[in-house]
Amino acid sequence: MNCPLCTAEHVTRWFSEDEICWVALCKTCSVPMVVAQKHGADVPPAVREHMITCLREAADVYFGGVRPYELDTEMRAIPGHTHFHARPHSVVAQRHLMSPLPGTF
Ligand SMILES: [Zn+2]
Ligand SMILES: [Zn+2]
Repeated sequence: MNCPLCTAEHVTRWFSEDEICWVALCKTCSVPMVVAQKHGADVPPAVREHMITCLREAADVYFGGVRPYELDTEMRAIPGHTHFHARPHSVVAQRHLMSPLPGTF
């Protein structure tokens, strides 16, 4: 299986990891990203909720609890492996003007 999220190495700033998910700085976007430990697009609602909680904790630290951000649950480049980004509002607004970059997590 050739999935970049399954083979992800701890090369960027690492926020947290548990048996359900890990949170790290996305190499491509430079924003906190939560990734499910298990490969697959469908996760049970409880797992999804847990992932979002972990991502919010990391994003609150990363953005200092003051910079506005929003959770981006759309999976563009790697639709087969559940992962969410926390993006600052400026980046989210920018994205509507640009097409997604190839290889973006
Ligand atoms: Zn995967
Ligand atoms: Zn990314």
